[in-house]
Amino acid sequence: MEFKMRRLNIRQLSFKLGIKILNKSRAINKCLIALLFVLLIFSGGCGLNLKPYSREFFAMDTLITIELYAKNDALGSLALNKAEEEFYRIARLTTRFSSPDTANTKEETGNLQFINANTGREVEIDPELWYLLSRCRIWGERTNGAFDISLGAVSDLWDFQHGGQIPDKEELAEVLEKTGFEKVFLVRDVNRVLIEPGVSLDLGAMAKGYATDKAAQILRELGIKHALINAGGNVYTLGCQPTGEPWRVGIKHPRKADEYLEILEAADTAIVTSGDYQRNFISDEGILYHHILNPETGFPATESISVTVIGPSSFEADILSTALFVMGNKKGPEFAKNFPQFKTIFYEE
Ligand code: ADP
Ligand code: MG
Repeated sequence: MEFKMRRLNIRQLSFKLGIKILNKSRAINKCLIALLFVLLIFSGGCGLNLKPYSREFFAMDTLITIELYAKNDALGSLALNKAEEEFYRIARLTTRFSSPDTANTKEETGNLQFINANTGREVEIDPELWYLLSRCRIWGERTNGAFDISLGAVSDLWDFQHGGQIPDKEELAEVLEKTGFEKVFLVRDVNRVLIEPGVSLDLGAMAKGYATDKAAQILRELGIKHALINAGGNVYTLGCQPTGEPWRVGIKHPRKADEYLEILEAADTAIVTSGDYQRNFISDEGILYHHILNPETGFPATESISVTVIGPSSFEADILSTALFVMGNKKGPEFAKNFPQFKTIFYEE
């Protein structure tokens, strides 16, 4: 997976393309140099006459920013509007909570709140949500349960949404019994689902990643070639910068505010981080409790601090970053080798 991109001069580029070809004949040599000029003109000059447009908005409990380049104001604002709307649309489909951007969601049928409000009976749901649930089931199996979207009732007890609290032990043990994907039944072809009573689904570990991919796809379809979407720990770089340079994305240091672990250069790449430094609280005993839960214990996962996943899909990188965080710094890197299209950064103290 190519996530680093640097501008190269002709000698460097010739070298990259293979010096052996250059030695074969003068004719090929000339053609190649001509081709290199064309490549350079297109890569360096493609951003001419473009203007920057940007927007910040709040969706999925996260401040989202989109920066893009477009050739005129009409396209610039259309692209921002469509991408923003897409975040709200996915939020309405996937959120467990009512909020201003998901208003009226209870009256709509077929979204996640509808599923959670109708446990114990088979209901028809939005086909896109059905597809997402089926992908989540596959990823749950692949990660041996480290990624588990059935932890909604456990998350409710911790209540990180409102600052967080340590749950009562008995209550936690009771709701842990109501987790596990074997309690979720997806009926193929008819977009129907049945979840057992007491089970509550939570798509918080992948919704922003999925929405980021979908928003990027919308921008692409509108002809946008250079954009950066930042949905909290989910970043997607569409194309490169108009100058031909890669986008530069900083990975936040999990323990030092305003410092970065690394600055990555990226183009057409998702960079997703799961960390213990958000949606957390410190108990009277000085213990840090955070929102990424170990599905076996129902307690926050303790084996990692920050895990970044870099790869082609923000949706999958989001799922993987949560799962690898749960697996921790010892098991996670080994498991990640199964997915060579993704690179990872595990923070060690
Ligand atoms: P963020 O929400 O900050 O992007 P993550 O992508 O890692 O972070 O998702 C964490 C969220 O996913 C939690 O807030 C919770 O809603 C849910 N969650 C917690 N633990 C798990 C888990 N083991 N598997 C799947 N979802 C989880
Ligand atoms: Mg995630």
